[in-house]
Amino acid sequence: VHELSLVETLIEQVAEEVNRAGQHARVIRLDLAVGRLSGVHVESLRFAFQVLAPGSLVDGAELSIREPPAQGHCRDCGASFEAIAYLAACVRCGSGNVRIEGGQDLLLESIELEEEDE
Ligand SMILES: [Zn+2]
Repeated sequence: VHELSLVETLIEQVAEEVNRAGQHARVIRLDLAVGRLSGVHVESLRFAFQVLAPGSLVDGAELSIREPPAQGHCRDCGASFEAIAYLAACVRCGSGNVRIEGGQDLLLESIELEEEDE
């Protein structure tokens, strides 16, 4: 995974959202969800953000990153557990017949803009 290109895409996405909302305020905070199975390295992502943010509309914005776990659901015994890999075995019965849910994407969850002075 190339974190620099991810952050470039992210900044474009933020710009699009802000423009669509007809806003001109400064972005002060971004909330991201980076799934634990997404393959994205959070420290690299933060570093890429520091490199790319200056001069862009997210310059100075705080980057808040949540790392939602992936859930495994065993098709054999019905157990639910945190999956730490795509090929997770059920923690209860050891079955490999496990469905993985969530924790696989990088999502922009919210954008916070500076309040405009009245
Ligand atoms: Zn099981």
